Amino acid sequence: CGIVGYIGYREAYPIVIKGLKRLEYRGYDSAGVMLYDGTDLKVSKTKGKVSDLEEKSSKEITTNGSIGMGHTRWATHGVPNDVNSHPHLSNSGDLAIIHNGIIENYEPLKKELIKRGYVFKSDTDTEVLVNLIEDVQKKDNLKLGKAVQIALNQVVGAYAICVFDKKKPDEMVVARLGSPLAIGVGEEEFFIASDASPFIEYTSNAIYLEDEEMAIVRLHKPLKIRKIKDDSLVDPYVQELQM
Ligand code: GLU
Repeated sequence: CGIVGYIGYREAYPIVIKGLKRLEYRGYDSAGVMLYDGTDLKVSKTKGKVSDLEEKSSKEITTNGSIGMGHTRWATHGVPNDVNSHPHLSNSGDLAIIHNGIIENYEPLKKELIKRGYVFKSDTDTEVLVNLIEDVQKKDNLKLGKAVQIALNQVVGAYAICVFDKKKPDEMVVARLGSPLAIGVGEEEFFIASDASPFIEYTSNAIYLEDEEMAIVRLHKPLKIRKIKDDSLVDPYVQELQM
């Protein structure tokens, strides 16, 4: 299972697809991609191989954009099929998430969200998390980073996540606990991935998030890393990769 994300100025789609191929060695049963074309979130996903996804998504995603994310799934909650594949969107359609790991307490969270009117399309724990983030965000009109942080503090489990909000399309929020997450730092662009292999050809500067850390990856702004639990700021440690 693996995650890839891109935010910058290049065409995101080919970077994401190529990145997913580099992460295939991690094992998976399905794959998916999201592209933000400046107006809409275009999502394409399928059970099967990244090459199957490539074939399907090249027909379904016909617009261009410089923000995207991709996922290879190793199913834990919900059978491997197209609908359960990631990315998952929130009920409003504004938020997109990719997630590696398990949300162990998804059942009580899901029950509560259903009471609050949320509808679920998939059987995944991940769709619960993206709607929890949306619910937290809407209740107090919060920025995405804050909403992700509050939601993660209600979650028991493991995750590497990347979240995008089309209402605020200059940033992505990433977080990790138990699953790896690397950020490639370029000039006016960022790469997100389970390891550096998807972005090594674009930048040699990488930040590896530690467990219980989250980062707000924002264009034209310094990268901010925080501890999820106590909100303290962490100095980003940028590692030089050997190309
Ligand atoms: N628990 C999530 C799911 O079943 C993510 C699995 C993964 O790590 O790929 O959809």
